[in-house]
Amino acid sequence: MINHLTIIGVGLIGSSLSLSLKQSGFVKRVTGCGRSEENLKKGIELGVLDDYSLSISDAIKGADVVVVAVPLGAMNSVFQQMQSSLDKSTVITDVGSAKGTVLRDAHCSLGEYFPQFVPGHPIAGSENSGVEAGFASLYHDRKIILTPEQNTNKDAVAIIDKMWRETGADVELMTVEHHDRVLAATSHLPHMLAFSLVSHLSKMSDQDEIFNYAAGGFRDFTRIAASDPVMWRDICMANGDALLELIDGFKKELDEITKAIQHQDSEGLFELFRDSKHTRDQLRDL
Ligand code: NAP
Repeated sequence: MINHLTIIGVGLIGSSLSLSLKQSGFVKRVTGCGRSEENLKKGIELGVLDDYSLSISDAIKGADVVVVAVPLGAMNSVFQQMQSSLDKSTVITDVGSAKGTVLRDAHCSLGEYFPQFVPGHPIAGSENSGVEAGFASLYHDRKIILTPEQNTNKDAVAIIDKMWRETGADVELMTVEHHDRVLAATSHLPHMLAFSLVSHLSKMSDQDEIFNYAAGGFRDFTRIAASDPVMWRDICMANGDALLELIDGFKKELDEITKAIQHQDSEGLFELFRDSKHTRDQLRDL
């Protein structure tokens, strides 16, 4: 059980974690921290938080576990502000969608407390943001990836592992490099495709007519283009190399389709669609 949990960045991911741990009784007290007092007051109203502070160093005083759940671009500044109030027993984790930059930031800014930092990423979420978007079952039956380093404290890993399992999630360990490559393919590239499709269509002269007739396929494919632009800007900046490689590969795939259409290659198109359908059919449980 965690006596005192502090969440820095009380949005969708942080508030869902708190609601779930409170529901199961795994946490006694949850302190929130963020830039907007209005958001934190809402957190108290919604039962996400027991108390809050606008000061990071005050919010983490005496905390057993600190979860950093801010956009990737804000992680380093948060780690820097934490340094002076940490103590040797505080376990720190994060939820950032890319792990390479977070690890570098934590390494530079947490100093002697770095071994108590367990990098993490819940493979769960939605296009909604803010404390009001949180819900207790978000992590149920979902995967959480932890990417500890050689020198990460084993007890700290065990505590974060237990915390996530309490939410109903499965926990897996991975290297940072593997995480960032896999997530670029399964999450970051699909978001780029959704954002670019909506952007492209919105610039067409008859866009009103186009969106008026958009149906299920368009809705399913572009739902994630309503995601938070700050969060996605930061993910692109953080995981650029892996993402660029995938975008390049994807462009080649589109070129193949373009050529097949230009050359009236119906057999080539059929084979590509048949193979893709076969692969997608295997993923029905997603
Ligand atoms: P969110 O709903 O927008 O919440 C982020 C919170 O961080 C906000 O409540 C905001 O509160 C605070 N914040 C924003 N900028 C900040 C800054 N510069 N300094 C300090 N605090 C700041 O976002 P989220 O979806 O929970 O995402 C949080 C993290 O989880 C991100 O790192 C993201 O990559 C990761 N993640 C997201 C998803 C997803 O599907 N959404 C899934 C997995 C992981 P204030 O405005 O009050 O400061």
